Amino acid sequence: MADYVIAIDQGTTSTRAIIFDKAGSIVSNGQLEHEQIFPRAGWVEHDPMEIWNNTREVIGQALSKANLTRHDIAAAGITNQRETAVVWDRTTGLPIYNAIVWQDTRTQSIVDRLAADGGVERFKKQVGLPLATYFSGTKIVWILENVEGARAKADAGELMFGTTDSWVLWNLTGGLEGGVHATDVTNASRTLFMDLETLQWDDDILAAFDVPRSMLPEIRSSSEVYGIASGHSLLRETPISGILGDQQAATFGQAAFDQGEAKNTYGTGNFLIFNTGTEIVHSQNGLLTTVGYKLGDGETHYALEGSIAVTGALVQWLRDNLGIIGSASEIEALALSVKDNGGAYFVPAFSGLFAPYWRSDARGALVGLTRYVNKGHIARAALEAIAYQSREVLDAVNADSGVPLTELKVDGGAAANDLLMQFQADILGVSVVRPVVAETTALGAAYAAGLAVGFWNDLDELRANWQEDARWEPQLDVAERDRLLRNWKKAVTKSLDWVD
Ligand code: ADP
Repeated sequence: MADYVIAIDQGTTSTRAIIFDKAGSIVSNGQLEHEQIFPRAGWVEHDPMEIWNNTREVIGQALSKANLTRHDIAAAGITNQRETAVVWDRTTGLPIYNAIVWQDTRTQSIVDRLAADGGVERFKKQVGLPLATYFSGTKIVWILENVEGARAKADAGELMFGTTDSWVLWNLTGGLEGGVHATDVTNASRTLFMDLETLQWDDDILAAFDVPRSMLPEIRSSSEVYGIASGHSLLRETPISGILGDQQAATFGQAAFDQGEAKNTYGTGNFLIFNTGTEIVHSQNGLLTTVGYKLGDGETHYALEGSIAVTGALVQWLRDNLGIIGSASEIEALALSVKDNGGAYFVPAFSGLFAPYWRSDARGALVGLTRYVNKGHIARAALEAIAYQSREVLDAVNADSGVPLTELKVDGGAAANDLLMQFQADILGVSVVRPVVAETTALGAAYAAGLAVGFWNDLDELRANWQEDARWEPQLDVAERDRLLRNWKKAVTKSLDWVD
């Protein structure tokens, strides 16, 4: 059998292809960023054709860097930014509008309209999610209502919807020539349309949204052969056999397979996922209920999720909009130029506040300023904001589960920041642990794909691959920790009620 598995990680800022060996180590990778399109305040789009072209290119980069061909690849997995919605034409294969990204808030009026009858928790029992601009369902409605001719085409069965996993899968498996239109249970659980128990689209909810079922992909498990790659990429004849939404993939890549295990990913946003095993737990504390994974015919694993919209994106904002750092990693040195936050607190509610608040009326607030505050303090306040938000989410997880987490596994781009990780341990009061392979998202998709074709045999084999790279223990005085948290919560109150 071939010695490697490839994962395609279709992320918010870039698309990556990473080749893993049996030990779960990275052999090579390819990566291309795509354009972030901001047509208006609150709108965020991507060009689906650019994403597909980048996908093909990064596959080529990863293969050629390691001097490998498709014959060396046993299977391909896909992981993706989850709620980002693509609608394309069944007859031309072309998108009818740009992809509307998960951070986009243009659908607020659609949310309000649907919530007028029953509130934002109207479908929460069935789908685990409140009505919010974040989820793909409202984005589909916007496209149907605002793109000329879309409604008529949809009613005639001529349109297809997919999150970017479906878009990539359909194109990889041949597109107009027999492309497979499917998604996995984890991505489907982010649409607002999937019933958590039946794992099927719910016709009553689709009727309420006025979205025709014919547009939707088939819901499959996270680990099975969906189709075989066509000649449209260098992976021709390779089985595509794993799909997991990025956060679920990271959880899988962290080997957090069992009830009570959790991880926190520090990327554009932060996403803490807590595995609740085969039980569907409805949060009393502002968390989402979502599918964790389902391997073939196996049992469905569910999870509680605390999603934070803006964490690493705040670091990007300091880089791109203020120019006080030249690259994301420079924030650590800038923050270390001062000894504390100087009294400044930064609530990065750029897309409203997600968990545990779910306040779309919130906007960013930088408070506690005096003439003493300099850019070092602002850098520190930005990093601290990432940690405070994660603390609030972990508090919600602990309250829902009743059993406090004793250790937090971390990953993602900003988990490379040692100052942030130490502060996170200080603010949580529990140890923070980072694995050797920090690309857990891609690894999780590779694992799902490899399991389906027998490249790996079972979860124990994957567990054995997990290795600790670094660990941070809480060091901060408890009274000081509580003072910081008190001030943070006060700062949050200043960010609310900004949008009329
Ligand atoms: P995504 O998968 O969401 O695109 P990544 O896991 O690649 O995100 O992480 C990138 C994010 O992490 C960016 O938002 C970037 O600003 C942030 N980031 C990267 N390196 C650092 C660092 N050393 N300190 C703080 N933030 C960082």
